[in-house]
Amino acid sequence: MITEARILDILRTVKYPGFSRDVVSFGLIRGVTVNGRDVTVHFTLAVRDPQIPRQIHESAMRALEAEPGIGKVELNFDIKEPEAPAGTVGRASITGVKNIIAVASGKGGVGKSTVATNLAIALARSGAKVGLCDCDLYGPSIGLMLGTTEHPMATEDNQIIPIEAHGLKLMSMAFLLDDASPVIVRGPLATRYVQQFLRQTQWGELNYLVLDLPPGTGDIQLSIVQTVAVDGAVIVTTPQEVALIDARKASSMFAKVNVRVLGLVENMSYFLCPSDGVRYDIFGSGGGEKEAARLKVPLLAQIPIDIPTRTGGDEGRPVALTDSAVAASFAELAGKVRSLLTVSG
Ligand code: ADP
Repeated sequence: MITEARILDILRTVKYPGFSRDVVSFGLIRGVTVNGRDVTVHFTLAVRDPQIPRQIHESAMRALEAEPGIGKVELNFDIKEPEAPAGTVGRASITGVKNIIAVASGKGGVGKSTVATNLAIALARSGAKVGLCDCDLYGPSIGLMLGTTEHPMATEDNQIIPIEAHGLKLMSMAFLLDDASPVIVRGPLATRYVQQFLRQTQWGELNYLVLDLPPGTGDIQLSIVQTVAVDGAVIVTTPQEVALIDARKASSMFAKVNVRVLGLVENMSYFLCPSDGVRYDIFGSGGGEKEAARLKVPLLAQIPIDIPTRTGGDEGRPVALTDSAVAASFAELAGKVRSLLTVSG
């Protein structure tokens, strides 16, 4: 006999996209109605990404229809806009942009730009419309990583049209600065530049805008995340203690301005020797995991130190465009980010 309890058991096998947790324990089921052999399930979700309910619909339908004895299955979705987190009201959103993701690091050289670029590509490969904005005034590198030297055009009313590369809309401070010209803007002027640059860009309709923040946790980072309505932050670290201490600083910076930290990415996590497959934990192991637990956020990905990741960055063909294990890790990271942004809190 088909009972409500049996239906819930079946739904416990349906995972939330990108997660190992199931839709029942995520609290997405509002009700189950059984009428003889026919079943209706009501889901409730706070999402902006239409692919999430679509994927849940598909997996739940498949699971329920595989159960012998079930007649007609109806799945209803009640989809709400996620609420703005407390303390973020008044922050400027960017017209047409649904989710703004900030990629941050406590210090330079940990691979923040590499992660931002590959995350953006992986999000785009999963079917989303994605923009990437290099907010690093002092060392913009995204143009290089995506292999473009093109300059954006401006419209008559002073709006900047982002350039496009590998399916992403792209803006970088580097596009507006000459390679040779030293950046002399500091302090409040620098902040104003970045804000103006974010607002004056015609992003069009985007599901995700990834901001590659300048490294560190100073005034400029703080003022960007204070004035732009960032929906979630990803903090990049390496496994060493020194980097982890800085990741902690980045996390407290976001806490100060009520921006939700989606999780940590541990970059240069380990090295997999290409000739014998042996794993070397060059910078020690377990650091990212412990720090994530301490900060009570998920460890979203562990990206190995990998030659194609480096050459891809230098040659303008990010590794996430390939079909490698590292590209799969970035795809998994993108899946988790999408899912986390659809579940409030
Ligand atoms: P950040 O933005 O934190 O300053 P970058 O992303 O510019 O760091 O990375 C610094 C250097 O390290 C670049 O040359 C980049 O290609 C390289 N790099 C980053 N992540 C990896 C990785 N997982 N494997 C190999 N090289 C990497």
